[in-house]
Amino acid sequence: MEAVRTLPIRMAPLPGESLDSWLEALARRLHTRYGSLLSHLGLVNQPKDSGRSNAVNWTVALSDEEASGIAHATGVNREVIHALTLARFGGRAVLIDHEKRKVNRHRLWGRGAGSRYCPDCLAESCGRWQLNWRLGWSFACVRHRLLLADACPACGRLPRRYPFSRHSVPLPGVCGFRPSRELHPVAPGCGQDLARAENLRLPKEHPALKAQSLLSQTIEAGTADFGQYAHLPQACAVALSEVRAVAGRMLTSMDAAGLATLVPGDVLDAHLHPEPGARPKRQEPERAGFMAPPTAAMTAVGVIAALRVLGEEDLATAARTLRPLTSTVRDGFEKCTATTVGTWGRGTGPVLRKVQLAALAASMRPSDQLRYRTSADPAPPSAARQRQRLRRRASRLPAAMWPQWAVRLSPSRGAYPRVLAPALAAATLLVGSRISFDEAVAMLGQTTDALALSRMLQMLEQTPRWETTASALTRLADHLDARPSPINYERRRSLDYTDLLFAETWAQICRDAGQHPGTGRRLRIARCIVFTQISGTPIEHAPEFPTADHNVFRAEAERFTEVWTPRIREALREAARAFLHRHGIRREPLTWHPPTNLLDDLDLPGRDADGIDIQRLHDLVRGRRSPTRAAAATLGLSIEAVRLALEEHPAPAQPLTPSQARALGRVSHAIRRILTEEELRRRYLDERQSAKAIADDLGVSRQTITRLALEYGIPLQQGRRGHHPVDREWLFEQYVICRRPLPELAREMRVSTATMNRWAHDLDIPLRPRGGASHREALRPDTGSPS
Ligand SMILES: [Zn+2]
Ligand SMILES: [Zn+2]
Repeated sequence: MEAVRTLPIRMAPLPGESLDSWLEALARRLHTRYGSLLSHLGLVNQPKDSGRSNAVNWTVALSDEEASGIAHATGVNREVIHALTLARFGGRAVLIDHEKRKVNRHRLWGRGAGSRYCPDCLAESCGRWQLNWRLGWSFACVRHRLLLADACPACGRLPRRYPFSRHSVPLPGVCGFRPSRELHPVAPGCGQDLARAENLRLPKEHPALKAQSLLSQTIEAGTADFGQYAHLPQACAVALSEVRAVAGRMLTSMDAAGLATLVPGDVLDAHLHPEPGARPKRQEPERAGFMAPPTAAMTAVGVIAALRVLGEEDLATAARTLRPLTSTVRDGFEKCTATTVGTWGRGTGPVLRKVQLAALAASMRPSDQLRYRTSADPAPPSAARQRQRLRRRASRLPAAMWPQWAVRLSPSRGAYPRVLAPALAAATLLVGSRISFDEAVAMLGQTTDALALSRMLQMLEQTPRWETTASALTRLADHLDARPSPINYERRRSLDYTDLLFAETWAQICRDAGQHPGTGRRLRIARCIVFTQISGTPIEHAPEFPTADHNVFRAEAERFTEVWTPRIREALREAARAFLHRHGIRREPLTWHPPTNLLDDLDLPGRDADGIDIQRLHDLVRGRRSPTRAAAATLGLSIEAVRLALEEHPAPAQPLTPSQARALGRVSHAIRRILTEEELRRRYLDERQSAKAIADDLGVSRQTITRLALEYGIPLQQGRRGHHPVDREWLFEQYVICRRPLPELAREMRVSTATMNRWAHDLDIPLRPRGGASHREALRPDTGSPS
């Protein structure tokens, strides 16, 4: 580069000014021809570029070398110089081919050449030109509250279509310059003062002004986070591509009446009935969906209408506005379906797709709405293949939706909870997937069927909260896909539940709680409840669930947990944990559910009992025949929500009613016949059996023995631990040396195996693992020896 000399005067560009405007003003100030200044700055067209339309447009972009030259000559910072060109908006509001210094006109409403302008701004600044007027996205001046002008009011030419003539001294703010015959190339124009253009004035708060502000802020920030982008912020270029796609479709597919529902009449009128001369004479091709709209009014109409969709915060509202575009097919556009939503325009992203799918949802089956995730954000990227992902999701899902979730998702009427809960679980597998209903129900252990699933989905779709319900299911699916669950439900479903809750354990639980263990039916109910708790599978699939009289049994089971006491609940949970331990599951919690705060912002059909006064609930249910019904009515909750609350926070036991006490008395009477005074004396005093051992042996509580002893006048010693009728040497010899099994020794001593087991434990006898280790192992020196 030839050394560029500094200019004799200095003049900084105005804020937001474009390079050409500043250079023209500079030439004017220097009273020099424009070409001389350009040559001085080293901005020289190659001969092949000297034709009008091929002239290098420095206002699009400068090379670093050129910018440095200008910086040196003018004393203005090089970065500031670059910011005078459209490159400042590159990648955000325009795509620029730096090689050719051309704006890509097929993307982002790029304008090839020419510029709109605000006459008032020109008047104020003596004709200095703003850079952003060159953007296809500029249609209004927010400061002067008017639509930008598209053309010279006198000759109708498009301003700044060509660079200013190199052979004249520039005259800022006029239409080109009156060409003189001998000068070539020229900037054709009529010399009209552009500041005198009359344009549509807009009242304060006009949607066009708001839309322009929003676009300008977004372009400045580089990120869109307004309206639909609030949840899913996008790069400015993506958001503008989506505005372009929607605006293009609206301008092409909607008639005036349709547009009038979205856009104020003044702007629409300016678009449909332009003042003569307001439109540039040589227009860009009017393919509004693809090219930048030729006029400010048309741009305003398109952008305002598009923002009624994308700028709307509520997805349902946005989708409703977009719906006419997805249901009509015009002008060669492909019919919009869930699989063609990506074809609306280049560079679009997930937000438009989300609104399109939500708009299409109205004509989709409810299962397809879940499959296409029409009421949710697009699927988070997942490396896992679909099958793998769904299998994992299924292993994290119980066969019946967690009650904590089901109460929120259940409409007040329309389905039995027992039918709905498995359907909701299976529906969660449909989210973002292509598996059939049959496959979905099979993955969760076939606790419902395809027909029921389909019916439930149709029922839910008819409810006013279906969209939020679908959102909830989609969020749940995403949550399960993204995070490991502490419970493997797949494994829980495949456990053998036949050894669930031993009869002795149940009897003990009832004794401890001072309740009657029942005649066998209560035990079955308890087993079914523990089964459901552990497996997450509906109660009907419990091994003990009867084959007849389902409804009676189910009602009794529901009643069971409504009135259980904290003590019974905890004891059954303990028994359930013991079962899991027996099956080698030691690390999983007994129960779990995904956090319901995932649903916090959703307006769902059901309400849970969170936040209600538990004490009040207990007062409401006490002593009533239909405790949940009454409480639900009073608290305005569903019966299921109340039942769940009672299941989790049972009402404490009340003092026994006389009839309950009599029932317990009968037990004591039965025991009394077995454990007579003589028998208790013999066992307790002669055989030195502990009260606990006797209680265990007879399957009654220790308190019963204590009461009887008191009644018989037999003094009981407290804490008789260690008083055993056998001594250590004897037991060691028999069990360890002679390897006699404990049950045999128990029989010999006429006690239960459990009692003998405890004695051995108390006397520090090394017990053989069940099934028996080798004789040699049992004789290891460190296992102790007779003392
Ligand atoms: Zn202005
Ligand atoms: Zn003119």
